This record gives sequence, structure tokens and C-alpha cells, in this order.
Amino acid sequence: MTPEKLFHDLLGLGLSWEVTESCFEHERGTVVLQLRATSALWPGLHCPKCRGHAFCYDHPKELLWRHLTVFEHRCELPCRRPRARGRGCAHTWLVRPPWEGLAPHFTKGFVDAGANRQESGNCACITRS
Ligand SMILES: [Zn+2]
Repeated sequence: MTPEKLFHDLLGLGLSWEVTESCFEHERGTVVLQLRATSALWPGLHCPKCRGHAFCYDHPKELLWRHLTVFEHRCELPCRRPRARGRGCAHTWLVRPPWEGLAPHFTKGFVDAGANRQESGNCACITRS
């Protein structure tokens, strides 16, 4: 099993998202897991306005989510989320990835763990270009 497959399973990404690269950045002491949507995302995605089929419109700039610490090292999930467009009405929206929590730039798992520990983050991981 590759590290990417292992992290894919640990993150519970399913068929619509994948880990394309995993690395440890020694200088920053950070585990980085590069994520992207797969072609399996599209058949099941429908326009929130007209419920029609959607297609991949483009991939705006990369965003970064902070995830739970991995063996005492910070973990970041960068991803260029796709923008989808409805075939019928041309409505365009950013696809919400399964790891995204209610707080921007933090994964659901990170927020849940923070709430459990009563130590909410003062963490600054936002966008990287
Ligand atoms: Zn639509």
C-alpha cells in the first residue's frame, strides 16, 4: 500500500477524491497531503439550483486545510477544488470537499478534535499561491 492510498483510506475520501502526493516538509515540520477530485465526482453531482447534471468548469486557486496532527507534526491538505457548472442553467459553484468543516481552512476532524480538547486553534493556514 502506498502512503497516498493509506492516507486516502484514513481520510475516508471515497471514490470522488484522491491523495495525489504525500510528503514531509522537514523545514516546516509539516506533513502535506495533496488532494484532488476524481472523475467519479461528476456523475453524482447535481446543480443546487435546477438539479440538472453538472460538469467541471475550472479549478480556481489552491486552498489549504489544516488537519489533525500526524505523529506530532502539523498536517496540511492543499487542494484546487473544482468549480462546477450546471449544464442547464449555467449556475457555477465551488464543490465542497468531504473534509471541509464549518470553519474555513480547517477540516471537520480538526475542528471536532479541537472542540473535544477545548483548545480551539489560533492557527494560520490560509491560502498559498
Ligand atoms: Zn442548474
